[in-house]
Amino acid sequence: MVAIAKPRLATAGARRVATPPKVAADLYHAPEYRAWREAVIVRAGRRCEAIEGGKRCWKREPHNRMFADHKVEIRDGGSRFDLDNGQCLCGGHHTAKTAQERAKRRTG
Ligand SMILES: [Zn+2]
Repeated sequence: MVAIAKPRLATAGARRVATPPKVAADLYHAPEYRAWREAVIVRAGRRCEAIEGGKRCWKREPHNRMFADHKVEIRDGGSRFDLDNGQCLCGGHHTAKTAQERAKRRTG
C-alpha cells in the first residue's frame, strides 16, 4: 500500500490570508458598490488604468478580470462610492497595490 500524504499546505496557506473586516464584506454586497464598480470599470474602457514605466497596462476585459479599486482605501478614510476615488485595475496591479498599502500601514 502506498501512503498518500495529506495536503497540509493548503490549510496552512489559507490561514495566512487575513480575514477582511465585516464592514468590507457588507460593502461588497451593497447594490451601490456594484453600481460604483461597474461605473469605474466602464469609465476606464474596461482596461487596467495602472501606469508602469510611462505606459498604461494593456490588460482589459474580457481577456482579463478587472477590479474596481479604491484609490484611498475606505479604512484610510476614502470615499466608498465616489468615482474619483475609483480606478480600474487588473488582478496583478490590484494585488500589487493592496500589498503596497499593507506595507505602508505596517511601517506607519
Ligand atoms: Zn494592470
